[in-house]
Amino acid sequence: MIPYGRQALDEDDIEAVVRVLRSDYLTQGPVVAEFESAVAAYCGVPFAIAVNSATSGLHLACLALGVNQESLVWTSPISFVASSNCALYCGASVDFVDIDVNDGCMSVRALRQKLENAQRLGQRLPDVVIPVHFAGQPCDMAGIHALAVEYGFRIIEDAAHAIGSSYEGRRTGSCAYADICVFSFHPVKVMTSGEGGLVSTQNETLAERIRLLSSHGVTRDKHLMTGKPNGAWAYHQIDLGFNYRMSDIHAALGLSQLAKLDRFVAERNAIAQHYQRAFGDIGLATLSVRANCYSAYHLFQILLPEAVSREAVFLHLREQGVGANVHYIPIYKQPYYQRLGFAYDYCPNAESFYGRVVTLPMFPSLKTKEIDQVIDTVRQVLISTSAVVRDNTKGD
Ligand SMILES: *Cc1c(COP(=O)(O)O)cnc(C)c1O
Repeated sequence: MIPYGRQALDEDDIEAVVRVLRSDYLTQGPVVAEFESAVAAYCGVPFAIAVNSATSGLHLACLALGVNQESLVWTSPISFVASSNCALYCGASVDFVDIDVNDGCMSVRALRQKLENAQRLGQRLPDVVIPVHFAGQPCDMAGIHALAVEYGFRIIEDAAHAIGSSYEGRRTGSCAYADICVFSFHPVKVMTSGEGGLVSTQNETLAERIRLLSSHGVTRDKHLMTGKPNGAWAYHQIDLGFNYRMSDIHAALGLSQLAKLDRFVAERNAIAQHYQRAFGDIGLATLSVRANCYSAYHLFQILLPEAVSREAVFLHLREQGVGANVHYIPIYKQPYYQRLGFAYDYCPNAESFYGRVVTLPMFPSLKTKEIDQVIDTVRQVLISTSAVVRDNTKGD
């Protein structure tokens, strides 16, 4: 089975990890700081805090922006559950802004409409909005930022898919249009540290708060200590934090992978072009790419015609050795979110997208022969299933 995604590791990645294993520090050593500086330089942002996952990073980002039981956070329904769970961790309420069916990203139009409606009806406005750079393409951040200025909310970019992408010529992570940006280095993403994530920001106060909370809320900085110092050995817990730190073992892999990131993303773009040409020829829709974006292509997806059964296509592809997948089941459909009271078909565009989308294999070491095999299989499957009428499992 050709998987839909996989890490690209070389000998030098393995050696980088082994060097740490032979060194004095497995964690809280020098490599994490080196990795943070390297990502900050890459993104063109002053502050970067490495963490043990993007999920942790999103939680810390929410906390740093003051998200609490009184807060309302809006995000995209077509995402991994971590995008909205981070707000629930803080006791906040969450709500979902519909997507643009053509690219899977949060729709600025839907956001504006939802804001206007809330204001008109005297309902709560969001404190934080979390756009998700779906499949690696940055959302329309200028549009979202303009609404943030108008309506007074803060922005966290969920860039779990999008390290190596850029928007208006600036790299994602630069936080040109956001307060905080969060990356994931899970092995299936664009580059990996095993498990891991990173939070970037231009705001020093936010950066300090995120760093403090990533390590138990404990500080050795005398300026931050409150109350009586205990002695030369003093450390003070000044807030309730977590152990969300990245280890040096993980950072070594991340640092080694970062050096190859631009190549990974260029290879992903070349594969995407290959797919787009082939599927364009048979009139099969793929996600649209906006002119001011360079996508990191974490995922590559086709959008099936309404009349074709996605289930049949999915099963056929799997039978033929193509590891198809579906990203994502709208978050509000998850049983946990259903218990929070969301309608099962809450966002119309997300429903339509989810009903048609199939994720195909996309990773740097995918061979031309395999790409062609995927394309041929999709073609055959479409011919053999075009007569299959969609059954009532549609949307599930
Ligand atoms: C993978 C992913 C996350 C979570 O990343 P982890 O590093 O596994 O915690 C969050 N948001 C999105 C959109 C993701 O795809």
